[in-house]
Amino acid sequence: MTDINFDLPSDVLDEIQQNIQSIIESFDIPDDNKFDVIRKINFMYTQTKQLSITDALTNLYNRRYFETTFAREFARAKRYNSQLSLVVVDIDWFKKINDTYGHSCGDYVLRELSWLMAENFRQTDIIFRYGGEEFVILLTETDGNSAIIPVERLRRAVEDNKFKFKGVELNVTISAGISSNKDVNEVCQMFDNADKALYQAKEEGRNRVRTFG
Ligand code: GH3
Ligand code: MG
Ligand code: MG
Repeated sequence: MTDINFDLPSDVLDEIQQNIQSIIESFDIPDDNKFDVIRKINFMYTQTKQLSITDALTNLYNRRYFETTFAREFARAKRYNSQLSLVVVDIDWFKKINDTYGHSCGDYVLRELSWLMAENFRQTDIIFRYGGEEFVILLTETDGNSAIIPVERLRRAVEDNKFKFKGVELNVTISAGISSNKDVNEVCQMFDNADKALYQAKEEGRNRVRTFG
């Protein structure tokens, strides 16, 4: 996917979009065309905005959107004294899948896993493709212990899922690290904690879920 970088902050863009009608009014466009122009601009705007926050391969939210969403949810949880959990998911031995069966097989696994994740989490949980074969999930109003339940369910769903690419059955597993906002002051600390838990899951043999602390 081509990364679209806005020169304007997105809240300024939002404001322009909200005022598009009055902006168009000031242009010299025949009256009977104005409505059409507004509709087209609104459509293009919505599409562009959607593209800028979406990962093209999996249709999940992308890393850029994760950064802003994580910061926002972290601040919100702090303000309202509520719980927030972060999960980092990494496919085990993914390089081997690519090397053995090819890149398009790896892409198939990434897409299939995205479906499994979407099925496994609540509507209020937000799933992102962080990069490569790494995904992150934000679970609002959820403490670290409660987060284990859906993540463990996902781990098992992946283990049990029949991944089949061009007639070849693949064994795919994931490892996951969980952290919570309890006793954490900064977003980067919360991310590091989840990453450390993931590292522990890998060290202990993969295909497992670990919680920080
Ligand atoms: P580990 O169990 O330690 O996580 O091992 P691993 O092989 O999964 O980890 P490693 O970080 O060595 O390999 C990640 C691989 O992910 C390397 C890269 O080729 C592959 N990859 C990254 N992005 C994509 C993608 O978009 N599509 C495909 N097919 N492969 C990708
Ligand atoms: Mg990785
Ligand atoms: Mg991996």
